Amino acid sequence: MGTTAHTDPAEIKEVYARLARTFKSGKTRPLEWRRRQILQLAHLLQDSGKMIEDSLLADLRKPRLESAVIEVATVVLACVNAVELLEEWNKPEKPTTVEFRSTWDVTVYKEPKGLALMITPWNYPFIITFLPLIGAMAAGCPAVVKPSELSPHSSATMASLFAKYLDPDAYVVVQGGPDIATELLALRWDHIFFTGSGRVGRIIAAAAAKHVTPLTLELGGKCPVIIDSSCDVELAAKRTLYGKTQNAGQVCVAPDYVLVHRAVKPAFEAAIQKAYNEMFPNGVFGSNVEYSKIINRPHIDRLVDLIKRTKGKIIVGGETEGDTVTPTVVTDIQPDDALMEDEVFGPILSIIEVQSMDEAVDFIRSRPSPLAVYCFTTTEVTKQKFLGGTQSGSLILNDTFMQLSAQEAPFGGKGESGYGSYFGKNSFDSFVHRRTYINMPHAMEPMLALRYPPYTEEAYKI
Ligand code: NAD
Repeated sequence: MGTTAHTDPAEIKEVYARLARTFKSGKTRPLEWRRRQILQLAHLLQDSGKMIEDSLLADLRKPRLESAVIEVATVVLACVNAVELLEEWNKPEKPTTVEFRSTWDVTVYKEPKGLALMITPWNYPFIITFLPLIGAMAAGCPAVVKPSELSPHSSATMASLFAKYLDPDAYVVVQGGPDIATELLALRWDHIFFTGSGRVGRIIAAAAAKHVTPLTLELGGKCPVIIDSSCDVELAAKRTLYGKTQNAGQVCVAPDYVLVHRAVKPAFEAAIQKAYNEMFPNGVFGSNVEYSKIINRPHIDRLVDLIKRTKGKIIVGGETEGDTVTPTVVTDIQPDDALMEDEVFGPILSIIEVQSMDEAVDFIRSRPSPLAVYCFTTTEVTKQKFLGGTQSGSLILNDTFMQLSAQEAPFGGKGESGYGSYFGKNSFDSFVHRRTYINMPHAMEPMLALRYPPYTEEAYKI
């Protein structure tokens, strides 16, 4: 494994001062400059697809197809979309006012907040950094990006590509772990965009509070899948397993556990075994298999320990070889099982039997709001139960994962899965301050005269 490059703390102060000068100079204000940075980001991705895939192979053994589609192509499309909509997003808004205020020129300007800091995780190092970055660029905010020390190849690639393609006075990668993040957090930022665990999210929130810095927290959680007796069980099993095996389950929106209606539990278990055999006919060990590894030893040990401690029955997988943990499905899980303690963030899926959809709703409500709820059903009644009865960042019916493709919609958490959102205009909105502007006409003076003391009886009549 490569070692993490470490930015010198003295350099951090220099970078910060440089970005602050850039912002103050007004360089990032013209839309043309912003457009150019976003297009450069698109060029960076188009020119360096192979280099990015190689880094992801080295860090995560991520299949090239997954990297090409998710970490490269999706971001190029997001760049194109942002360039096309840049003017529209930045256009001042004219709120509808009552007649009385119609001459005040009430306008809402979209001002860049200022210096942005992004601290990102290792599981999707490029897309998770670049989608908010596009928002910062579109808003005219310079930014420092601190990617994860656990994906050192991706972080180094990102640093070298930033230097080559983007304005170094505005966009810089700072490399290192928690110590470097701590140095960065001591500085005063105008927006912090954090993606990672709830544990670190709380540290970030405390640091941001010291400077009253606005914050986006994109955190994790345990995303449930609900299997209603009305659904197509085979399709549900296939789509659930797909969501669980992408990046070996190391995904914030990966299905974490399944609440299956008792009437279809045996059929669902058989279907998930069948789906596994179809997707991985030769298993997941061996050099030809396209299946991500687990990021590092502590995470492998954590997952192995979970498999050892669970009291459930393993019906798929359960094995480990080197840095690979097989997709593992464990059934007959009780709510107090080891697998139900924390976010699994790996390829282990628990199955819990429920007697009804009401019981499933109650189960989800009794736990912190997840980033996503996935519900497989064909009935309107069940859809309404989960829409009205549960809370989560997103609710997806009859599939998993696809909220990542809906780039027009906000992606974000609720409660313990975080706050704020991104994707498309939502990324842009994170980095702008909506500044209210009024230009009061002199001609209003006769109407405004009543506000001045001493207050007259006439004023009280209004
Ligand atoms: P993490 O919280 O351990 O690390 C994330 C970032 O925080 C890294 O850059 C790391 O260097 C930094 N960091 C670590 N300790 C720190 C400290 N004490 N002070 C300041 N910064 C510190 O998360 P991870 O292991 O990289 O990623 C996995 C987690 O991220 C999971 O919980 C997953 O659900 C979540 N996640 C969420 C989303 C989302 O969009 N909501 C996306 C991907 C991952």
